[in-house]
Amino acid sequence: MASANPGVPPAAGVPLAPLCTLGIGGPARWLVRATSRDEVAAAYAWAADRGVPLFVLGGGSNVVIADEGVDGLVLHIALTGVEVSTAGADTLMTAGAGEAWDAVVAGAVTRGLAGVECLSGIPGTVGGTPIQNVGAYGQEVGHVIESLTAFDLHEQGMVRLDASECAFAYRMSRFKRADAGRFVVCDVTFRLREGPPTTTYPDVVDQLARDGIKTPDVRQTREAVLAIRRRKGMVIDAVDPDTRSVGSFFMNPVVSRASYDRIAAINSHVRVPSYVMQNGGVKIPAAWLIEQSGFAKGHAEGRVGLSTKHPLALINRGGATARDVVTVAGRIKRAVIDRFGVSLRPEPVFVGFSNDSDVEFLINHEGREEV
Ligand code: NAP
Repeated sequence: MASANPGVPPAAGVPLAPLCTLGIGGPARWLVRATSRDEVAAAYAWAADRGVPLFVLGGGSNVVIADEGVDGLVLHIALTGVEVSTAGADTLMTAGAGEAWDAVVAGAVTRGLAGVECLSGIPGTVGGTPIQNVGAYGQEVGHVIESLTAFDLHEQGMVRLDASECAFAYRMSRFKRADAGRFVVCDVTFRLREGPPTTTYPDVVDQLARDGIKTPDVRQTREAVLAIRRRKGMVIDAVDPDTRSVGSFFMNPVVSRASYDRIAAINSHVRVPSYVMQNGGVKIPAAWLIEQSGFAKGHAEGRVGLSTKHPLALINRGGATARDVVTVAGRIKRAVIDRFGVSLRPEPVFVGFSNDSDVEFLINHEGREEV
């Protein structure tokens, strides 16, 4: 059982907007930065002793915080450090959950290790990556995670989970489903190996060709991915307003074959971009559905808009509120339902909203056709 006193006592009334990439949200009633596993456990005990809800905040890149703020203890994960060891031909890298994810990727690439180079330029921290099994351009963390250490709120103690216990699936894990809110990830161990990069994704292939690179190494592949992401406004950049977002606001839906045929019939004048998944479902880019429903890149509604570079990123155009964001997101979701009967699911987590019909509409599926 953890000690009831965090190393640092929680601070009261801490603004959260500066801790989030969207730059929106009211204050935390209390906030504590945890720099060690003991501090995570102690923060849990502090909240439990007082009957106060606990909210975990990592890099703030995938969260929409209510304008009213968060009535509870926000646990800001700041565990750092990277340890490297060898295991036969493999290299194990263990990184603190508060490490910037892209710095860990850069460290792996510098060592010539393959496995995460396509995950370059993704904002946020290491601890967030297993939650949604972050993936991009043909790689996903679930393929290289060896294990992780987490504080288990049910057991009130640290546990080690092997990758096989994390139920990784496409942008999904047990941490988002059955065990949402149960674990606070403290560190993650990645199993990487020297070798050729993954260059299967068409955008990456095109970029490398554009750069005149025939036999890319992991460093060149990382640079190619960064170039693609920058073009899409998906690399955080203080001087680029298109990056004041949570990245993609909606997930790419996977629909049944029958739904795909129905959607194709609605839009028979253009080909619907689609990719058949291993389970037979058909993935359709959310960006395409959104554009076809009347929301183009650069669309603006007051203080909220869509990035001029990518229709999937809702941006804070300056002074936006969380209410503005959920209202515009709801309008987009409604338009896609009305046109295609597909209920898009938001990617970010909504914190501090209770019994909020706008947020309920966004996160519910209404029995729509997505599989
Ligand atoms: P994009 O590259 O145009 O991809 C849009 C959708 O089309 C994605 O679902 C993507 O699949 C799919 N797709 C594209 N080419 C494909 C191919 N050759 N085979 C199979 N599927 C293909 O658009 P984007 O929104 O800018 O995304 C870029 C990458 O970042 C994608 O890999 C996307 O998944 C990833 N991403 C990940 C997260 C996350 O982890 N939470 C958030 C945002 C974006 P895949 O999703 O399988 O790649």
